Amino acid sequence: MAAKDATLPQFEATALDLIPKVASAARGTFRTHKTKKVQWRIVQLRKLYWAIEDFRPRLIAALMHDLHKSEFEAVLTEIDWLLKDCMFMIKHLNDFAKDEKLGSPAVPITYSMMNFRTRKEPLGAVLIIGPYNYPLQLLLAPLIGAIGAGCTAVLKPSELTTACAMVVKEMIETRLDRSAFTVVNGAIPETNALLAEKWDKIFFTGSDVVGKIVAKKAAETLTPVCLELGGKNPAFVTKNANLALAARRLLWGKTHNSGQVCMSQNYVLIDKQVVPAFTEFLKVAYKDMFPDGAKASPDLGRIVNARHFHRIKKMLDDTKGKVVMGGEVDEAELYIEPTAVLVSSTDDSMIKEESFGPIFALYPVNSLDDALNVAASVHRTPLSLYTFGSKSENERVLNEMTSGGATLNDSFFHGSVNTVPFGGVGDSGWGSYRGKASFDCFTHFRTIAETPSWADKILRVRYMPYDMSKMRL
Ligand code: NAD
Repeated sequence: MAAKDATLPQFEATALDLIPKVASAARGTFRTHKTKKVQWRIVQLRKLYWAIEDFRPRLIAALMHDLHKSEFEAVLTEIDWLLKDCMFMIKHLNDFAKDEKLGSPAVPITYSMMNFRTRKEPLGAVLIIGPYNYPLQLLLAPLIGAIGAGCTAVLKPSELTTACAMVVKEMIETRLDRSAFTVVNGAIPETNALLAEKWDKIFFTGSDVVGKIVAKKAAETLTPVCLELGGKNPAFVTKNANLALAARRLLWGKTHNSGQVCMSQNYVLIDKQVVPAFTEFLKVAYKDMFPDGAKASPDLGRIVNARHFHRIKKMLDDTKGKVVMGGEVDEAELYIEPTAVLVSSTDDSMIKEESFGPIFALYPVNSLDDALNVAASVHRTPLSLYTFGSKSENERVLNEMTSGGATLNDSFFHGSVNTVPFGGVGDSGWGSYRGKASFDCFTHFRTIAETPSWADKILRVRYMPYDMSKMRL
């Protein structure tokens, strides 16, 4: 494992007494109306693009420091992801932001002379709270939506990824318009101070436990929230699946970012007839990915900190199941080996908890009926689901179980493209973003009607005294 980079900035929380001033500045700048000019937004997006390019080496170093994230994953899922997001928003912003004329069928022909349109208005000053697993992408992708929509924003990165939090603060505050975009660093006290302020929207990505805290606080001031919450995602593997492919793809879903991915499968509901073959294919895929063992791989990340290491290890300690692949842990390196555990009860720690790490359960089932019943009893509205079976089996799973998003015949591919909408459903999240949805997320769609003066001839029927005989006009 690489040594920690001592040249990265030390973590420093923002002083609590500064937080009301930061929030007030974001509200004040919004009231100047400068963020409403589309050209101003495009300039900010270009500045962000070049800031990310210029900070690239430090961002890669920060991701290595905080999560032991390989350069490959840092570039693919954080840095280039965000550059593509900026480009997409810059390219389409004029189109997204322009007024849309409302015609038939929304506006009946009788009212066609009234000139109805939808105006896209920025919501205002917004708060964006990020998690630790993609400390750049999951903080800055919503920011790109907020800038595109014309909002001002305060960002609160995860305090667990300390180097990323500090580098992002420097990057945003030195490169973007500081009166509109600032970063508050800190943990619970700082987040609570931010939540005590009035925002026009709160965008939160993180656990359902904290999501509830955010939603409750926002409800006090009727502040809209977008909540991107946690997983407990099922995968279905039937006896008609391509087992070798399913094993390789599901293992990918648990090794990428060391399984610290909200969308990765928590457990696999697998037809009991194919458990032995699937387990063998998992071992083959493991050997292909890690010829010298997972620990020696330069590609596999580490768990973010000791608390999360122990949380995941406890799931392995508590399970009554049998480890069929992996199982090694090393606290000194915060290393957890990609691990599959064959379990026989849905009360098992491996199914009850969200693993958010490189471990997952295999739960044998008698049939697809059985699998669907188990999945519904574990989590009715997971963030994602994956299904490997025949076309009709995959369709049946989609029909009979909902989820925020789903991928057929793969792990989390629906969440791997930066411009398609992404979000949860029910208690895995409210609202979605990415691509145009990011613009929409921070936009108020304001209906405008304009009644021409001459139309009064037609509209006179609406004035008192009413005359029922003219009702049909
Ligand atoms: P978390 O909820 O612990 O922390 C998220 C943010 O909330 C951090 O910025 C943190 O400082 C703040 N926070 C933590 N405790 C708080 C409290 N008591 N009061 C106020 N603020 C508080 O989440 P995490 O551990 O960073 O991330 C892991 C979780 O996030 C997992 O459940 C994962 O599934 C979920 N997640 C969801 C998505 C998604 O897009 N749906 C993406 C990534 C992670």
